[in-house]
Amino acid sequence: MNKDTFGANTICTHVGEVADEQFKGAVSPIFPSSSYAYENVDVKRYPRYFNTPNQEALCKKIAALEKTEEALIFGSGMAAISTTMLAFLHKGDHVVLQKTLYGGTYNFVVEEFDKFGIEYSFTEGFRKEDFEEKIQQNTKVLFVETPSNPLMLITDLKMISGLAKEHGLVSMIDNTFASPINQTPADFGIDIMLHSATKYMGGHSDICAGAVAASEEHIKTIWNVAKNLGGSLSDYTVWLLERSMKTMKLRVKAQNRNAKKLAKWLQQHPKVEKVYYPGLKDHPDYALAKEQMKGYSGMLSFELKEGLNASNFMKSLHLIKESMSLAGVESTILSPAKTSHALLTVEERKRQGISEELMRFSVGIEDKKDLIADLEQALDKL
Ligand SMILES: *Cc1c(COP(=O)(O)O)cnc(C)c1O
Repeated sequence: MNKDTFGANTICTHVGEVADEQFKGAVSPIFPSSSYAYENVDVKRYPRYFNTPNQEALCKKIAALEKTEEALIFGSGMAAISTTMLAFLHKGDHVVLQKTLYGGTYNFVVEEFDKFGIEYSFTEGFRKEDFEEKIQQNTKVLFVETPSNPLMLITDLKMISGLAKEHGLVSMIDNTFASPINQTPADFGIDIMLHSATKYMGGHSDICAGAVAASEEHIKTIWNVAKNLGGSLSDYTVWLLERSMKTMKLRVKAQNRNAKKLAKWLQQHPKVEKVYYPGLKDHPDYALAKEQMKGYSGMLSFELKEGLNASNFMKSLHLIKESMSLAGVESTILSPAKTSHALLTVEERKRQGISEELMRFSVGIEDKKDLIADLEQALDKL
């Protein structure tokens, strides 16, 4: 059978399975060896070469989901992102990055790039002109993240890949928030897809991992650096991640559905000022999201009416947990002003559109009625 014609549920369930030749078991056996025979074998297998049987198998699943030739998995999302950027950016090169990136990516760039002699510019906005005005003679990479955190703004993927082609650049996207279920950027010509597999791919808040998907040629370039930096993922976690990914489409679809319904419910509540969700018709990027996304994701953010206290609201929630991470089957909520954007001044946050009342909501798979009941009783207490 041809895996190119498989739907995402079939890919999640089956692609890259390791056959249990010995006992015909239903799931992939784990091969935890860090030492393999080297005589008379073509491939020198070693965990840090990213080529143990379990690593190779899971990469097939991720590549099939992202519609690329190949993939690599890492010990964290940041290992995937840092390794990939360092593979394409050399001393004297320049990268244009979208403003409002994940905090860890931002820190990696501003804390490490000077040491390597790599130049960088952040855009002022999300439009073509914003990216174009930052491109220089020595620019090699365009880096975007869409939907963005926490306001769920959308970057036009076709525009980005067009700019990259026009200027001979490599385009990279952090596709974590959408997951490959909701967005396959390769369809729009993006070269390299990055993931924190800690989020939707893992989906149960119990795995830390990362992934990159791209052409065979690009993966080779990344692998050459990856084997030196050594950010490989343990085979035990690889196996858990394979197990988790079998239900990824089911989970993400349920999260999309819940998020859309909760976004609409929150929007009509008198104590809620504003809801940011790309699946709402009044979101500024709704048309673009509709064009390039298959679902609008389980992430949304919202603001309480001015003067209502977000911390008190979150403390009153029973079912929805206050938590830093996202994309698990359980619903979680946080205040960007107190966490991801805590180091900025109130003024700087305001400039980025992040008010003190804003909350980021990662919607889980619980029953909608129970989530609404929880939100309602906490809003009533304000
Ligand atoms: C969590 C996250 C990362 C970093 O992933 P880790 O697995 O924590 O290293 C990168 N990008 C986005 C969008 C994330 O949410």
